[in-house]
Amino acid sequence: MSTAASAPDGSLPLVSVVLPCLNEATHIAASARTVARTLAEIPVRHELVLVDDGSSDDTWRVLGELARTDPGIRALRLSRRFGKEHALCAGIEHASGDAVVVMDADLQHPPSLLPKMVSAWRDGFEVVDATKTDRGDESLLSRVEARLFYSLLRRMSGFDLSGASDFKLMDRKVIDAWLEMPERNLFFRGMSAWLGFRRTEVEFSVEKRAGGRSGWSVRGLVRLAITGITAFSTVPIHIVTLMGLLFLAFAAALGVQTLYNKLTGIAVDGFTTVILLVLIVGSATMIGLGVIGVYVSRIYNEVKGRPRYVVAERADSEQV
Ligand code: UDP
Ligand code: MG
Repeated sequence: MSTAASAPDGSLPLVSVVLPCLNEATHIAASARTVARTLAEIPVRHELVLVDDGSSDDTWRVLGELARTDPGIRALRLSRRFGKEHALCAGIEHASGDAVVVMDADLQHPPSLLPKMVSAWRDGFEVVDATKTDRGDESLLSRVEARLFYSLLRRMSGFDLSGASDFKLMDRKVIDAWLEMPERNLFFRGMSAWLGFRRTEVEFSVEKRAGGRSGWSVRGLVRLAITGITAFSTVPIHIVTLMGLLFLAFAAALGVQTLYNKLTGIAVDGFTTVILLVLIVGSATMIGLGVIGVYVSRIYNEVKGRPRYVVAERADSEQV
């Protein structure tokens, strides 16, 4: 057994499981119990950190009840919906395990994988990534979008996250390093990849949702994709510069031609060129400003230095 997985006094290591919950009232109690039962079968102690990301249904009431009846539960209610990345962050900050697992609360990340992940950790791996072998019954469109996003991100940032999911186990060392990352624009998968450490993968295929509905809207996903790219790559800004250089070369060539026409007395002609130039340069400038604007807004968000989430209420079980 590696040192990572055994407490100094020889007692069993503590594994925390963080579950972000947005409107999961119908099945969260069952999900939490399934996870707890799976962990009870292996030689570790466990705690569940359940984060209610400002649900509008009964989720918080169910979590409070769960904390009263079941051992090893820590429940947090965020003051509003902060988004999954921030809910994960809250959960990780409140987890005290020697290893922390993050997974979805709808059981799309199969708990049956937990024993395998824990044993990989005990073999000395510091990060155990569960990677998707297939994306479940996602639509063709969202598969294509996911591929496009990951290949863009790989080209721009050098991190290959295709198949990456928010289902992973991280050693305490990794969690401590993660907590040192001060950014407000959270992109959990990217941050975890950036950290490095000794990692291994276990594969899983995405299950059907245990109940309820997916909390992601197209807008939410686009926003996450933009955060993912801007937080891990400055390539878009460099593209703007390249575009500028390209137009400069273009301008030089056209300038020579215009002067030549003027000198040989055949000017006027070339109205189309003017219109096209105005349109192309105008749109390129706007796009450039937009890209820079996105980065400036990110910087603005970071500089404000607001807390990443606000906890409104807590409920912990008495027995741990
Ligand atoms: N989630 C969250 N806040 C959000 C969106 C989702 O805490 O704004 C949680 C949700 O409760 C679930 C996990 O993140 O535990 C994955 O969400 P979902 O199942 O809606 O996403 P999908 O599986 O469709 O990618
Ligand atoms: Mg899901």
